Amino acid sequence: MTTSHDYDLIIIGAGPIGLACGIEARKNGLSYLIIEKGCLVNSLYNYPLNMTFFSTSERLEIGEVPFISHGAKPNRVEALEYFRRVCTTWNLNVKLYEKVVSLEPSTMGHVIKTVKGAYSCSHAILALGFYDLPYLLNVPGEELPKVKHYYDEPHPYFGQKIIVVGAANSAVDVALETFRKGADVTMVIREPAILESVKYWVKPDIENRIKEGSIKAYFNSEIRKIDNISVEIETPDGVRILENDFVLAMTGYQPPFEFMEACGIKFRDDEFHTPVYNEQTMESNVPNLYLAGVVCGGLKTNKWFIENSRVHASMIVQAIRKNSGK
Ligand SMILES: Cc1cc2nc3c(=O)[nH]c(=O)nc-3n(C[C@H](O)[C@H](O)[C@H](O)COP(=O)(O)OP(=O)(O)OC[C@H]3O[C@@H](n4cnc5c(N)ncnc54)[C@H](O)[C@@H]3O)c2cc1C
Repeated sequence: MTTSHDYDLIIIGAGPIGLACGIEARKNGLSYLIIEKGCLVNSLYNYPLNMTFFSTSERLEIGEVPFISHGAKPNRVEALEYFRRVCTTWNLNVKLYEKVVSLEPSTMGHVIKTVKGAYSCSHAILALGFYDLPYLLNVPGEELPKVKHYYDEPHPYFGQKIIVVGAANSAVDVALETFRKGADVTMVIREPAILESVKYWVKPDIENRIKEGSIKAYFNSEIRKIDNISVEIETPDGVRILENDFVLAMTGYQPPFEFMEACGIKFRDDEFHTPVYNEQTMESNVPNLYLAGVVCGGLKTNKWFIENSRVHASMIVQAIRKNSGK
């Protein structure tokens, strides 16, 4: 495999924050490349089709490109349109559908190998997000096609008995949307209540649906076994067998820790497995390797989001300029 081109900066991940890093590099005259394993803003592309962002559109803007949406808060289609426009406005240097498989130190900085080739660069950014690895239920039957870890839209669940696992924003959104499109919804929730972190304008809705019984909920309960026609759950009142057509496991996602470790990243000894980085420069424990976006929070995947991590891009590029005298 030959190494092509020496870049000042390679950014792994073309999510909103990876794109923001590319824009900042371009503005500052660095040679750069963004490498993405899927399509542009791959995580957003895989979000539920009818989702609406909780942020207003101007808070998601990057690269001074105005984000105009029909409502105050944009939806997924508007966000995809927006980030495509950002990419063309800045004529960003992005390679799509090219998964990065390794990043190793070299005399120059790093060598990055992908499924299609190899690249060298003096600095690199991991802007990997957290949406690729769902937390598994780890129960028999999880491999059945009726069990989903990603939710797209409500129509397939019309007239079906579904179980939604989880008590955070995604689970609540899925339970309400499928219920309103004609599904028979039961929530299985490990905790004693809907989580406090659920959006304040949605929480009363789900709590009232549960109270009136239109959405059933088992609290302090967990799925034990899934088969083609039923699900076994353990509840405080004993084991229950529920008739079931689909299980939507909205149990969250985690960053690609294995890949990060293989890149040499170390982690703090805390409950969130937070990666080690300098909070002023975003540089990790590996010299000239930076972290940006949601990946910086480790398992606390709601710590960093688009709104509050857009700033990582300029922090990193300023640090690179300072280090390298560019
Ligand atoms: C339903 C939902 C609603 C949300 N609403 C909001 C909101 O209103 N406001 C807000 O600020 N945030 C919101 N968020 C959070 C926000 O979407 C994420 O924080 C944001 O996507 C983080 O951007 P990122 O660039 O860090 O990561 P991502 O957008 O996840 O991008 C990471 C990219 O890296 C790529 N990648 C990973 N591994 C590799 C590899 N080995 N090689 C190449 N590419 C790789 C992935 O394919 C992905 O495209 C929401 C999240 C969800 C799930």
